[in-house]
Amino acid sequence: MKILLVEDDQVTGELITRFLRDENLFCDCITTGEEAFQIGKIYDYDVIVLDIGLPDMNGHELLQKLRDSAISSPILVLSGLQSIQDKVKALGFGADDYMTKPFASEELIVRIKALARRAEGHSSAIIRVGEIQLNLDTQHIEVAGRPLQLTGKEYQILEFLLVRKGATVTKNNFLNRLYSGMDEPEEKIIDVFMCKIRRKLQDILGPSGREYIETIWGRGYVLREPNKQNQVPSNVISVHPSIASISPFSKNNLPSA
Ligand code: CA
Repeated sequence: MKILLVEDDQVTGELITRFLRDENLFCDCITTGEEAFQIGKIYDYDVIVLDIGLPDMNGHELLQKLRDSAISSPILVLSGLQSIQDKVKALGFGADDYMTKPFASEELIVRIKALARRAEGHSSAIIRVGEIQLNLDTQHIEVAGRPLQLTGKEYQILEFLLVRKGATVTKNNFLNRLYSGMDEPEEKIIDVFMCKIRRKLQDILGPSGREYIETIWGRGYVLREPNKQNQVPSNVISVHPSIASISPFSKNNLPSA
């Protein structure tokens, strides 16, 4: 999960960044409204946490600019302003939630996770696709009831695919999410990660484990529950089902290795 934190107070910014990192929530902390607006337009954040008192523009103004630019990430306003009018104003400008300072870190984390979940259309913290089960709160993935051991980057990739199950995710989407434009490696790295994840799924599920993540040639990857009737035997080259039906490489016609 990736959070954009807009907070000009250095101490508060560092504190929140630390809380979020402890929860494995990746956070970019920005101190001015203009910079937040620019970066918010480029990257797809799961949640934006926004202070109202910013040095260069009012948080309400930033809220309006973000919404006018069709940035739909959920926005949580975190402000020292405590009156009902302040809350109503922020919600009216397009905020999804409002918390007042001082705040409890546990509450902030729970609210951020809930906002991200609802934005993805998941009211529960559990996402299931076939034998794979993700708990967004604990960031724990089980496959056929067994814990799946993943590195940090592998987890981020599989989580991203699970919350967008059925939708194609491009390699560029993955790079933005994993590296935020900082020292971005080449797109090929995503293929390497995907290969490792598929192998780990296969280790638990057998051949069907490789069928969850489908390659969409020239575009990216999509995760979906394998169709049991169309399952490709493991000794056949794994191809997109639409290609499989016209592939010359049928099971009896494989080129010798
Ligand atoms: Ca401030």
